[in-house]
Amino acid sequence: MKLVRYGEPGRERPGLIDADGVLRDLKGHVQDIRGPAFQEQTMDRLRSIRPETLPAVEEDVRFGMPVGGIRKIVCIGLNYTDHARETGNEPPKEPIAFFKPNTCLTGPNDPIVLLRNSRHTDWEVELAVVIGKHTKYVEEADALDHVAGYCVANDVSERKFQAKGTGQWILGKSGDTYCPLGPLFVTADEVPDPQNLRLWLDVNGERMQDGTTANMIFGVAHLIHFVSQFMTLEPGDIVLTGTPAGVGVGRDPKVFLKEGDVVSLGIDGLGQQRSVIAPPE
Ligand code: ZN
Repeated sequence: MKLVRYGEPGRERPGLIDADGVLRDLKGHVQDIRGPAFQEQTMDRLRSIRPETLPAVEEDVRFGMPVGGIRKIVCIGLNYTDHARETGNEPPKEPIAFFKPNTCLTGPNDPIVLLRNSRHTDWEVELAVVIGKHTKYVEEADALDHVAGYCVANDVSERKFQAKGTGQWILGKSGDTYCPLGPLFVTADEVPDPQNLRLWLDVNGERMQDGTTANMIFGVAHLIHFVSQFMTLEPGDIVLTGTPAGVGVGRDPKVFLKEGDVVSLGIDGLGQQRSVIAPPE
């Protein structure tokens, strides 16, 4: 299934995109697309609905992030061989983990609002994994059974704030709107191999990133296993799995986002985002 949340910020309604790309209203069938809905019986019930029996939504709507009530966003850094190389780093021996706060989250086509005094805001197209079950000390062989589905994410990063002082990455990763998510939440049964997805990103129509999840250093199953040795992952938590080469800080000369720029990005089968860069509040 391709599930979405649509409507005004904070008042999104659950929906489904049918095989013809038509948005259908799921109101009355599920309260929201969020952690508690990922129980198998709820998902099976939604799967049993014939989409053509759901009301079509004809008007132009805003898409919100496709998963509501997200409590934590665990991120993995330098997880693609080509991206580690472009930043001048050795491929890590074990996953590098950090967090983004859930206040970063915004819809897939909402503006990205620059942090005050930012001159080094950069882009990172990433495969976002949505956890479906209580996950603690999970074996790698069982880890994909804990995945509810996948989304497109942009791990927007302020490189100066990420590197300055003592180099606390979190300070460059945490701006409001610095994590557009969606538009689709694609259930795991429709993504048979998360290590075979093409992902790309354009700035003002110019291709900047063009990679494949096949180049991840640590695959999705290993990442979930690894993170679950240190914390519990709950239904609706998100794991961002790193970005391929082509970020602005890796280019010569370096390129960063400024007011009015348009960032478009997507992953095969998971949909596309389009964000306009807005000035600081
Ligand atoms: Zn990232």
